[in-house]
Amino acid sequence: MKKVGAGIQVPSNSSRLLLKWGLGPFLGDRVVEPSCINFRRWQSGDVIGYTRLVPEFRESFNAPYYVIHRAHFLDALYRLALKLGVRVRVGSKVKDYIPRTPSLILEDGTTHTADLVIAADGVRSAARALVLGDHDRPPKMTGFAAYRATVDVDRMRADPDLSWLVEKPGINLWIGDMRHVMTYTIAAGKSFNMVLSHPEDSDPSTWEQETAVNDMQQQFSGWDPRLRKIIGMIDSTLKWPLLSGQPLERWVDPSGKFLILGDAAHAMVPYMSQGK
Ligand SMILES: Cc1cc2nc3c(=O)[nH]c(=O)nc-3n(C[C@H](O)[C@H](O)[C@H](O)COP(=O)(O)OP(=O)(O)OC[C@H]3O[C@@H](n4cnc5c(N)ncnc54)[C@H](O)[C@@H]3O)c2cc1C
Repeated sequence: MKKVGAGIQVPSNSSRLLLKWGLGPFLGDRVVEPSCINFRRWQSGDVIGYTRLVPEFRESFNAPYYVIHRAHFLDALYRLALKLGVRVRVGSKVKDYIPRTPSLILEDGTTHTADLVIAADGVRSAARALVLGDHDRPPKMTGFAAYRATVDVDRMRADPDLSWLVEKPGINLWIGDMRHVMTYTIAAGKSFNMVLSHPEDSDPSTWEQETAVNDMQQQFSGWDPRLRKIIGMIDSTLKWPLLSGQPLERWVDPSGKFLILGDAAHAMVPYMSQGK
């Protein structure tokens, strides 16, 4: 589960499409619909801003604002694809693309040809350079990184300082100078998801995941004591560089048979939850 990251927010513009495609029954009760977003002062946790999501977002945008564990989200998409008759092949690394055919060659040496090849191979896309050739403009470091982690909700519920945070589903966002901590419950309310953004200029290849928990605690050392208490419950975390894509001349290969999609074409920082 760790490799896919922890939670993901699915705002109304995304959920409207997903529900139209028939994803609802596959999300089931694993999806959480938070009632509001509380914007909190970094030092004290005092609420300095508030956005009501329920019922406003369904009423205004005809679709809910969801949060969900990424593994559950991918599983729902996978099962919907199977139901629609899509043949899904996992664990198959693409070694090369031949845009003009179009076809792709897998690591096991097999070649697969199609009418159209869509490469959604992420922020470090290999397909992007093929589509753009000399015009390729890789995503840039933004000067920020994020720790991602989850905390067991039962542990928080047992602590009188923290139990109020998990009583009803809400998004709580602590904001300070150049840093913020986004939190919400996922996995049908069983897991407390955290994304901790902070300035970071160094080369990600030099980062040591082993010291990440200590480094994270230091980054937020003077913050709201209740938030620090939750951070203290984090046993392991992953540190991710936040990259931002540059505007590209095209997403479609001149052959018209090969294209890039998703972060490969338009990676962005996660602050507006618009990655999907
Ligand atoms: C900390 C953080 C928080 C975020 N929060 C949100 C949020 O709340 N809401 C939101 O909408 N977005 C959020 N985003 C952004 C969102 O995660 C991305 O925009 C989204 O995952 C992009 O999806 P994708 O399919 O394009 O790429 P990815 O999710 O990166 O998937 C690409 C896939 O391609 C596979 N792949 C790559 N190369 C090959 C190859 N050669 N052969 C086979 N497979 C290959 C990879 O293994 C991977 O599985 C967040 C991002 C970060 C970093």
